[in-house]
Amino acid sequence: MKISILGSTGSIGRQAVEVIQKMPDYFEVVSICGGDNIEEITKQIKLLSPKNVCVKSEQNAIRLQKEFPKINVLYGEQGLIDVASDKTNERILVSVSGKTGLKPTLAAIENKIDVALANKETLVMAGDIVMARAKEMGVKILPVDSEHGAIHQCLSNREEVEKLIITASGGPFRNKTIEDIKNATVEETLHHPRWNMGKKITIDSATLMNKGLEVIEAHHLFNMPYEKIQVVVHPQSIVHSAVEYVDGSVIAQLGFPSMHIPIQYTLTYPYRHEGIETRSFDFIKAGRLDFEEPDLEKFPCLKLAFKAGAMGGTMPVVMNAANEEAVFMFLDGKISLWEIYEITNKMMNEHKNIQNPTIEQILEQDILTREKTKNQLQKK
Ligand code: MG
Repeated sequence: MKISILGSTGSIGRQAVEVIQKMPDYFEVVSICGGDNIEEITKQIKLLSPKNVCVKSEQNAIRLQKEFPKINVLYGEQGLIDVASDKTNERILVSVSGKTGLKPTLAAIENKIDVALANKETLVMAGDIVMARAKEMGVKILPVDSEHGAIHQCLSNREEVEKLIITASGGPFRNKTIEDIKNATVEETLHHPRWNMGKKITIDSATLMNKGLEVIEAHHLFNMPYEKIQVVVHPQSIVHSAVEYVDGSVIAQLGFPSMHIPIQYTLTYPYRHEGIETRSFDFIKAGRLDFEEPDLEKFPCLKLAFKAGAMGGTMPVVMNAANEEAVFMFLDGKISLWEIYEITNKMMNEHKNIQNPTIEQILEQDILTREKTKNQLQKK
């Protein structure tokens, strides 16, 4: 399998490299793209010997080109698009963060390259366009997100599906009061009980916005109306998600929490291989599985996401951009955790929704909302 990784130095990217290393005969890495973590990129070049490397800045590209004269070194957005368009690839993993994933994903689709997609924003921002184009081009979009990977494995006949059940660990504040959440520090918020992830997604997991983004993601990936998507809090994170069929049968995918398994699944699909996880699942060790309803009073961001998703158009773009900027402000100590919700809600209320937007309108709205969100700080 000839593959490329867009976002090889991030949390998902590094775990994907571990998966690939475990199966050196199976994979051939065509290109890797990282940001500006040159130390990590250098390590990965030596490990994977890719033909092309893409970094964020021209300066770092020049530096790397000198050090590795035999490798083709690219940079910036165009570099990512070129890598994603390279028909040598049989599959690409898009694990860059934020809106950076959108254009390369579309480029891969246009070139009939299957996409293992770990970038939520691509679907939250432009799910209608991306999925329609993928269908037209016969390109597979394989979800890396553990919940969607689980649903993908549980789905057989889509016509017979009654609903999708997406599980949520509940994050670090599941058993806390609203007051605790309002006064939460950055440190407490970054302390996730089950998953070790990047900072942005860890904050989103604490507000349950991550689950909200995943609901929108699931709506697009599996073409499922929002009324048929249920979020269930499951603190052990053993059941990764489930599908209920019209006859009342429920099929769930289980396993100990690990991103290696869903990453590997998307890279080797439709085949399964023995992989990096040597720990086999044990029901007895898992012990008990608990489930509860999410508390929307404590986690109103989840409500916002259902609302934005149901409204469609540019509303999810605005929600995503406002939330992301607000999360950065929280991480910088400029606003409280609760204000992430308040600001995002305000940005959504002030937005005049545009239905069936073009990619240009989506990207324009993204930039506008980010500026407007940052301006909220000056007004304070
Ligand atoms: Mg997830």
